[in-house]
Amino acid sequence: MRQYLEEARGMDRNDPLGVYRDQFTPLEAGMIYLDGNSLGRLTKSTIGHMERLLREEWGGRLIRSWNESWYHKATELGDKIARIAGASPGEIIVADNTSINLFKLAFGALKWNEGRTGIVSDTLNFPSDIYILQGLVHQFGEDYHLDLAPSGDGISVSLETLNSVISDQTALVALSHVIFKSSFMYDMEKVTEIAHEKGALMLWDLSHSIGSVPITLNKLNVDLAVGCTYKYLNGGPGAPAFLYVRKDLQERLLSPIWGWFGQHMPFEFSLRYEPAEGIQRFLSGTPPILSMAAVEPAVSMLLDAGIELLREKSIQQSNFLIKLAEKYLFANEFKLGSPSDFRKRGSHVSLKHPEAYRICKALIDPDTGDGQIIPDFREPDNIRLGLTPLYTTFEDVFKAIQQMHMIVKEKYYMNYSVERSSIT
Ligand SMILES: *Cc1c(COP(=O)(O)O)cnc(C)c1O
Repeated sequence: MRQYLEEARGMDRNDPLGVYRDQFTPLEAGMIYLDGNSLGRLTKSTIGHMERLLREEWGGRLIRSWNESWYHKATELGDKIARIAGASPGEIIVADNTSINLFKLAFGALKWNEGRTGIVSDTLNFPSDIYILQGLVHQFGEDYHLDLAPSGDGISVSLETLNSVISDQTALVALSHVIFKSSFMYDMEKVTEIAHEKGALMLWDLSHSIGSVPITLNKLNVDLAVGCTYKYLNGGPGAPAFLYVRKDLQERLLSPIWGWFGQHMPFEFSLRYEPAEGIQRFLSGTPPILSMAAVEPAVSMLLDAGIELLREKSIQQSNFLIKLAEKYLFANEFKLGSPSDFRKRGSHVSLKHPEAYRICKALIDPDTGDGQIIPDFREPDNIRLGLTPLYTTFEDVFKAIQQMHMIVKEKYYMNYSVERSSIT
């Protein structure tokens, strides 16, 4: 295995993004974090930024800060995220969480496309997204239905299958750009085209792709999108999500939640709701200023690094990981749970094993091997390894595979219970 360790170190030495690793708060000694696709790490600059906000803006300026800097935060931060998503200023706003944003936009789409009664998604989508869509169908009434395109291999969904499920009765196609379990990445251009040909609106959930894959919403004429900021955007636990509505749709789409922050003139305190112009109408109540502030420095760092370079490194890392897995793990009952073609893959890799849960436990245990490795487990047999190019090194990837090799070879996982913890 030695030569691969050398290869990893060589790639780390030549890594133009290597400088960013030090800009994150340090991990415990010997720990390797491969779960940035679930909860991104904390940048050092976030701490100073939050401290200043707490002391000066909240502590010192109090209510005056609303005029001085808070009132437009949700749109300003949205404009920053727009630069990573290929959208224009005024098309993205930060608000609520991904589930609520999906509800707001999918509701707007059903109203906009009244007369059509179908929503299309797929069986690999994130359950919360499916629940939100089921709930909408339930509320809109008996004529409405959610149709889920099936997956042939449990990893991906083919364009042909999708095409056969979308019909001229489909109001909305709502899919995740990158699938949370398998990392399968849809061809955003082709799918958006199919939806449009049939007269449906297209909504993409970018939660697992924003900040790791270049996205060009405007160029592909995408109608709607949502996404979260605590994964590759490193915005912190429960950080607010974002939503995108293409400019020309904004005046024609209504939010189902008519709150004062989405009102045309909230401080007139009029008793009649009139939606704000533009993206602002998709706000409901007071935005979470503190949580939003934590997203800001992290997004700036991503912009500084450049999404193209990040994607390039992420592809190199996932290819390297899969190469090592083929050499050392596939003979030991492991299987690839992600597409082997990097063009169809996001920035995490799933490895399947019948003992995946206990292998994860062994990886996380600091007493196994040389240190602690943090991936995550997704039912029934997936170990997800998140590659976050701002801070993951090639040596991290090497060590993770080496450790997994040891754990299965020595059947070390037998020391752990199959009992599930509440969060895996
Ligand atoms: C992480 C994730 C979410 C998170 O939803 P919240 O409502 O913000 O908790 C939603 N959808 C997808 C596809 C995700 O990956």
